[in-house]
Amino acid sequence: MKQNDFFSLSLSKELLAVAQDLGFEKLTPIQAESLPHLLAGKDLIGQSKTGSGKTAAFALPILEKIKVSERQLQALILCPTRELATQVVGEIRKLGRAHQGLQVLSLVGGQPGREQAEALANGVHIAVGTPGRVLDLITRRRIDLDGIATLVLDEADKMLDMGFEEEMNAIVRELPQKRQTVLFSATFPASIQAISKRYQKNPVQVTISEDEASSIEQYVYDSENEHKVGTLMRILQQHPANSTVVFFNTKASVKEVSDLLTEQNVPCGSLHGDLEQRERDTVMTMFRNGSYRILLATDVAARGLDIKNLELVVNFDLPSQPEVYIHRIGRTGRAGEKGVAVTIAHPRDSLKLLEIETATGSKFKRQALGFKNQHGLGKSLKEAPMQTLSISGGRKDKLRPGDILGALTGEAGGLKAEDVGKIEIHDKYSYVAISAPMAKTAFERLRAGRIKGQKFQIKII
Ligand code: AMP
Repeated sequence: MKQNDFFSLSLSKELLAVAQDLGFEKLTPIQAESLPHLLAGKDLIGQSKTGSGKTAAFALPILEKIKVSERQLQALILCPTRELATQVVGEIRKLGRAHQGLQVLSLVGGQPGREQAEALANGVHIAVGTPGRVLDLITRRRIDLDGIATLVLDEADKMLDMGFEEEMNAIVRELPQKRQTVLFSATFPASIQAISKRYQKNPVQVTISEDEASSIEQYVYDSENEHKVGTLMRILQQHPANSTVVFFNTKASVKEVSDLLTEQNVPCGSLHGDLEQRERDTVMTMFRNGSYRILLATDVAARGLDIKNLELVVNFDLPSQPEVYIHRIGRTGRAGEKGVAVTIAHPRDSLKLLEIETATGSKFKRQALGFKNQHGLGKSLKEAPMQTLSISGGRKDKLRPGDILGALTGEAGGLKAEDVGKIEIHDKYSYVAISAPMAKTAFERLRAGRIKGQKFQIKII
């Protein structure tokens, strides 16, 4: 049994204090297994899933050896998606808050490359990026790679799935030979073993323990294809949850089920390949702030999403590969929390289910679905705790969360602070979540009043 106490590690007192501040009491299994090796400077290949605490596992050793006084890039982290990169940057900044002057930069597409190049020129210590954009900046000689002492490949299997192998190779070729290389992946197919062999020296291998895998309760319900939507409704009632993602194999079925749920007044968001970035962001904002409790998504659209504390994952369609199943259910049961994963299968799918059981090393539970609420849907499914208002002003209008909170809770607004949820400020617009019963009032007050002395367009989304 490994020690699972932060104090058992050779971490500086500043980092120990930050971990304590953040409420990290015990090391997660992946941290307990990997931190001693990583702090000792070894290469490592680790099995991990989102929510296992893997970011802190590779970030703490980087922070431990970073020299902030040297304004040079010292660690590079490659991620498959923008969303994951953003999430990793957030986590490193959180853990790095005792490092005065630390610069952590995200290098992803969809943002001006020129600004990133300027930031790099001003001195960045840790860069987190997607392979395409990072290679682009390297080719244009915008990144000084000479000081890189650590390379992390996060969700390496996804990077391969997304066709980034060539970019990864080209990037690694440019890095200093003398470096620490850390590879995290949810699965270890032969292609990952090959990458490890090519990039790493005598890596320590770490896999997740049984206990962690079993923190997810996995159920399966049989359903004929034409009854799947009804089965889904009953699953949502039988396993009530505040945050649910339902996975589909095609975007056509996402759209179809989304229409059906909307018809029945069940608030839900959907994510599929046809959405613009702005639409995706809106859906994610509403899911995270409690305006939707249910999100319908294809695997591709859900890649790298920053979703915390998912209580329930439903597989509307059985995934084609056990690896996809593992990725999907890895979004629940995070960092020691209990999670539930429910799969809808066709009676003919028993062989595929067996393959999944072998791959996960755990057994599905089978139980009958109840027939509660035969006369329509349970009330709770139709109610989301929050509603989102959009405001036609953002950072460019110098709006800050306090201005919006102030307008809502001040004399003209009259709302209580506890009725106001997450506030997100974007460049040209902002979102604020309001407890559902107060949403209309908040909308009217904001529309009649001003925020920071200015008039904005307000909408209920
Ligand atoms: P990750 O798997 O890196 O996405 O981390 C999932 C979440 O767990 C993040 O919000 C971390 O801040 C949090 N976390 C990481 N390590 C610990 C820990 N030892 N104890 C409690 N929470 C943690």
